[in-house]
Amino acid sequence: MTLQAAWQSPIAPGISWYQATSGERPTYPALDGSKSCDVAIVGGGYTGLQAAYTLAKAGVSVVLIEACRFGDGASGRNGGQLGTGQRWWPEEIEEKIGYERSKALFDLAEGAKHYLLDFATDHQIDMDYMPGQMNVAHKRGYKRSYYENAEIAAFRYGYRHARFMDEEETQQRLGSKRYYCGVLDTGTGHIHPLKLMVGLARVAADAGAQIFEMTKATAIRQSGGKITIDTTGGQITADRALIACDAYIGNLEPVTASHIMPIRSFIGATAPLDDHPDILSGGEAVADSRFVVRYFRKSKDGRLLFGGREAYTADNPRDISQHIRRQIAEIYPALKDIEITHAWGGSVGITMPREPFVREVMPGVTSIGGYSGHGVMLSNYCGKLYAESVIGKSADLDQFKSLDIPAFPGGAAMRSPLLFLALTWFALRDKF
Ligand SMILES: Cc1cc2nc3c(=O)[nH]c(=O)nc-3n(C[C@H](O)[C@H](O)[C@H](O)COP(=O)(O)OP(=O)(O)OC[C@H]3O[C@@H](n4cnc5c(N)ncnc54)[C@H](O)[C@@H]3O)c2cc1C
Repeated sequence: MTLQAAWQSPIAPGISWYQATSGERPTYPALDGSKSCDVAIVGGGYTGLQAAYTLAKAGVSVVLIEACRFGDGASGRNGGQLGTGQRWWPEEIEEKIGYERSKALFDLAEGAKHYLLDFATDHQIDMDYMPGQMNVAHKRGYKRSYYENAEIAAFRYGYRHARFMDEEETQQRLGSKRYYCGVLDTGTGHIHPLKLMVGLARVAADAGAQIFEMTKATAIRQSGGKITIDTTGGQITADRALIACDAYIGNLEPVTASHIMPIRSFIGATAPLDDHPDILSGGEAVADSRFVVRYFRKSKDGRLLFGGREAYTADNPRDISQHIRRQIAEIYPALKDIEITHAWGGSVGITMPREPFVREVMPGVTSIGGYSGHGVMLSNYCGKLYAESVIGKSADLDQFKSLDIPAFPGGAAMRSPLLFLALTWFALRDKF
């Protein structure tokens, strides 16, 4: 293992398989001294770096700071599944906000998917894209809703890439008897998230964005039409600012902190499954119907990358791989003794309704995050849309701004204990 692969994120547990396989991961300098610019960005995940890239490309002067290294947050450590649409099925969103807005959000997510794939191609970022995704039901009783989901996608939302799978096909594609039906989506796929991050940082820097690692914002305030950000490396003064810290917001900005809650999610990578050609033989990624979703897929080199266990406290489990192994064995009993070569975790930013949080939290300062486990394509796109709103090119970000995202009851201080109770209940319910 190289030194680089052994880098331990200061904000997330474990060294990921992505780190071991992302190739060269260049470092960027820390901020050293004061800066002034048009737009300052706090947080260097997909959201922040896409905004920085799009702004710099348009000739806007932009300074971005990242508290750790690019990829140490969720963007470099996630499950890599793009999915389709929003976090909820369109018919569920439709019940809340009606067909027209639901369709607009669905189309926006399709735009996000195409943007990301084109972005990677245009900038020669090889992010190991593999096509195919399956949403699968862990209870027999879900058959009707899965069937209808594929029909609604096709006939109400014009999405022709998804179709229902019966029990036999689902089990054959998964190589597991634990699921009873599913929807096969050939219009999406999965990626190596850290390879995308490494490429994105390079592209943003090449476009002229001033990007800094190991530089933490400690305070942000607005006065007299200017934004001032105190950081560990100097002060930044800007006309506008974007807070793109998602689950890692801490106590930097209270409105964001009371609307986005961090939930720990953990992933394990097994040794290559050479002796199990029946498992995910088509190479699709999988997300299941549990409230505490299990998500898994095979890597390009044939490992099972399995994510699932969530924790609602700030603590990390002592041995991540032990929990992951138990969940893998439930689905794939033949893998009960498989070696887990890498195990890691990260924080997913969720909101109360599990829809993205986009809000102007003080004049000139926008905060974006809370993609609720569906942020790989949406965060990239929201960063771009934020930049386009600044330069007056598009108002599409307003579709997210207009979503009704309430604060967690009791604000930042109470959200964890209350949510812990609620989510523990849902996790229990998944079992019966
Ligand atoms: C284990 C896991 C699995 C996931 N799987 C999937 C999946 O399969 N599909 C999917 O769509 N989504 C998934 N997600 C969610 C997805 O990764 C996120 O929605 C997305 O990466 C959010 O990007 P971001 O740029 O908004 O936030 P992040 O990538 O988390 O970046 C925020 C950055 O802000 C920095 N920061 C915070 N505070 C400060 C400060 N004060 N000063 C400077 N910098 C600061 C942090 O260090 C961090 O790097 C998963 C997430 C996790 C953790």
